[in-house]
Amino acid sequence: MLSEFALIRRYFDRASPADGRIALGIGDDCALLQPRAGMQLAVSTDMLVEGRHFFAGTDAGRLGHKSLAVNLSDLAAMGATPLGFTLALALPSSESGWLAAFSGGLLALAEQHDCPLVGGDTTAGPLTISITVFGEIAPGAALRRDGARPGDDIWISGSLGEARLGLAVLRGESLAPLSEDARGTALERLESPHPRLPLGQALRGIATAAIDLSDGFTGDIAHVLERSGCGATVVVDSLPVGAALRDQSLALQRAWSLAGGDDYELCFTAPADLHDAVIAAAARTGTPVTRVGRIDAAPGLRLQDAHGAQVLAPPSFDHFQAS
Ligand code: ADP
Ligand code: MG
Repeated sequence: MLSEFALIRRYFDRASPADGRIALGIGDDCALLQPRAGMQLAVSTDMLVEGRHFFAGTDAGRLGHKSLAVNLSDLAAMGATPLGFTLALALPSSESGWLAAFSGGLLALAEQHDCPLVGGDTTAGPLTISITVFGEIAPGAALRRDGARPGDDIWISGSLGEARLGLAVLRGESLAPLSEDARGTALERLESPHPRLPLGQALRGIATAAIDLSDGFTGDIAHVLERSGCGATVVVDSLPVGAALRDQSLALQRAWSLAGGDDYELCFTAPADLHDAVIAAAARTGTPVTRVGRIDAAPGLRLQDAHGAQVLAPPSFDHFQAS
């Protein structure tokens, strides 16, 4: 059994990048971060609890990846650039195979996005992973939730609903026959999301508002509408339904792209006359984007099919309402 300090050294302590951004990393009472002169800090925390956010027995490498990915997704939604992150970890036991895989998945994603682990806390307890990520952004440049204006287009990156399909697979929900490929894609989308950091940064100065889709499109866009004091009309048939969902019923495709959750795509708004700038930013970062509707002055979210007929919204996920 490793001591707490040996465990941290072996699995989590890595050399800091040489660019001076991390003046002091793991090993002291605090880490010291040095954002570039004049930049604001962007800070976000997310917590993953076994049995609530992931099933017991989830692959440790994917869990490490996802724990950081959901936090990086928040930085992406603000258009911020990662500086570093801290990790608070409650572990039932210090099992070396699990720790090696978990830290491997975690630190690989950290390296990919140049976001080093700078500190944390480790304790015994039911498996719980809480990460706080720090990023930097120029004052006034952040993509907040309150900037959408009537007439803006509404855009979504990538595709929706596949993570919810992955959850259905793990739960053994009844589904139309699923190819091995579709099954693999769905599980990968659920367990190993890829935060849209390059797109978020490329949208600075273009997008008026942005949010990352964690609880489901309809619930998440409602936050933007509320904070921005406006409404929206969305054409449901234009939502980018994930390819792995294509063999499922139309009703499921609709429900899961509207309110599936765990997509970790960006939903953002931009003035209609910046359409070409959005397309260019998406192309530059290799991120597909789809225009799905527009912001209106009248409050509320109106869902329509391709013929303009009203579609009712399925409920979005809420931890305190979920059974
Ligand atoms: P303190 O008692 O001052 O809180 P700790 O003994 O908890 O310090 O941690 C020692 C060092 O290891 C600190 O620099 C802390 O940030 C770091 N650390 C502890 N747990 C983790 C972890 N899970 N990941 C990364 N760094 C960690
Ligand atoms: Mg401590």
